Amino acid sequence: MLIAIGRKLRRKPIRTHAKGATTAIKRARIRGWSVERCNLERAGLKAVPDLFLSQAKRTRTRPASSNRSVTKEKNVTLNRQWRLKHRPEGLIGPEHFEYIESEMDEIAEGDVRVRNLCLSFDPTQRGWVNDMESYMPPVGIGEVMRAGTVGQVVASKHADFQEGDLVQGLGGWQDYFVAPAGAGLSKLPQGVTPEQALGVFGTTGLTAYFGLLDLSEPKAGDTVLVSGAAGATGSVVGQIAKIKGARVVGIAGGPEKCAWLTDALGFDAAIDYKNESVAEGVAKHCPERINIFFDNVGGEILETGLAHLSMNARVILCGGISGYNETEPQAGPKNLMNLVITRSRMEGFIIVDYLHRVGEFLADMVPWYAQGLIQHKEDVQEGFENIPATLQRLFSGQNTGKQLLKLADPS
Ligand code: NDP
Repeated sequence: MLIAIGRKLRRKPIRTHAKGATTAIKRARIRGWSVERCNLERAGLKAVPDLFLSQAKRTRTRPASSNRSVTKEKNVTLNRQWRLKHRPEGLIGPEHFEYIESEMDEIAEGDVRVRNLCLSFDPTQRGWVNDMESYMPPVGIGEVMRAGTVGQVVASKHADFQEGDLVQGLGGWQDYFVAPAGAGLSKLPQGVTPEQALGVFGTTGLTAYFGLLDLSEPKAGDTVLVSGAAGATGSVVGQIAKIKGARVVGIAGGPEKCAWLTDALGFDAAIDYKNESVAEGVAKHCPERINIFFDNVGGEILETGLAHLSMNARVILCGGISGYNETEPQAGPKNLMNLVITRSRMEGFIIVDYLHRVGEFLADMVPWYAQGLIQHKEDVQEGFENIPATLQRLFSGQNTGKQLLKLADPS
């Protein structure tokens, strides 16, 4: 049944590159889909979670024993890599990485060699190159830059993986990586594209879903404010809040992004923080004040949101991208007392704590997607040489939706 869902996703991909198309038209287009056939209990709650669990449980799979069938490596010798050269102070850029071509050894018994096809770019990668304690260890100087990837198995000495399998893992900025004993790899469900696996059905979708629903429980009539709203996470957050009946106001940079939010995604209003006052926009578009603030940005935007809380509001701290490239820690919001006065709650989260609940996510997200209630954009760059510069796009706001870089198609 998962295969059937996979075919559906492939037959009618909901990609929102076309400007000006209305939500109504797009929803009508997919109305022929039978939601009943998306029966998730039979459809993927066993297979799909592997997609995500790989990142949490990196030693879950077992190596092949000598009598299991394995595939052999062929004609692969050179590996292009981008390694961390030195730690950035301020804006991260290509100058912080070094291009290397290295020889590859034969893989050992139990190992799997994967060719990366598509790389995920995430603001958290900026934090990974800082020499400080976090939820993951920092990338070391001279190490290949860490990144989520989807790739194809090119050689396997592990019984669970065959040449040609599409897999997801933390493959990094390189053409090929080896998963010792298959650690950290999970197969893509049939029909799920690499782009979807790294975006709307990957950690992006999970972050939006659990961040919003677990930390705030939106209900009909609530006013939800989302910052970073035209990004991969924020755009999904706003649409989930709409599904729950909330009034949704997004904050994004630039008129095109704001138009996409209101015209295509169904946001009730959008505030262009680059061209208008966020405080005035929030006051105008949230006349009943804010019940839920999903903040991806931090800094002044967080402070402005805190100034407009309703009673018993929930503030979800998903990220603080406005400060990721700062050389000094950002000042905290001056108005935290508003939490006290409005009896509100502010809470942060990291999505890795929710990976074991991916089944819940899919049980909602697959039918929402099939019904056209969730749309997403993918910003797909190309070219190995463009990898470091592509990370910068997140911090200049050049991306709309999920930032990816495609290295190759599956063979
Ligand atoms: P996005 O696709 O949202 O890309 C980042 C966007 O941030 C840019 O497009 C830009 O949009 C905006 N931005 C960049 N710099 C600034 C700035 N100085 N001020 C305001 N906005 C800025 O990335 P993701 O969806 O992957 O991530 C969004 C947020 O979610 C990040 O803060 C990230 O760290 C966080 N996150 C947290 C997770 C968790 O587990 N807690 C998991 C995943 C992501 P614009 O043009 O509108 O400025």
